[in-house]
Amino acid sequence: MKGFRYIDGVAILQLDTEACIGCGMCVTVCPHRIFALEEKKAQIVDYNACMECKACARNCPAAAILVNPDERCGCAGLIIKGWLAKFTGKLVGNCC
Ligand code: SF4
Ligand code: SF4
Repeated sequence: MKGFRYIDGVAILQLDTEACIGCGMCVTVCPHRIFALEEKKAQIVDYNACMECKACARNCPAAAILVNPDERCGCAGLIIKGWLAKFTGKLVGNCC
């Protein structure tokens, strides 16, 4: 995804390729196309586009994905608030 990125290198996203069973669910559910399947294993192909929405981790049947475990924090809220500020011209507070 070319637009709507946050800051490079800050997302907390980990993939355990040993645990991955190659089902492809993370490829399907990720809205930012972070994953690809290569030789029946998921690979992270666009790490810096991750917005920590956790759709991949919640849908992985092998628990092979870890996304920011701190429920109070995450880049997604800040990104969405940034979009709202851009389109409305109003700041709506900080991330957390
Ligand atoms: S959802 Fe989990 S098991 Fe399935 S391909 Fe992705 S990482 Fe592997
Ligand atoms: S947390 Fe969301 S944006 Fe990040 S890799 Fe998972 S599904 Fe994609």
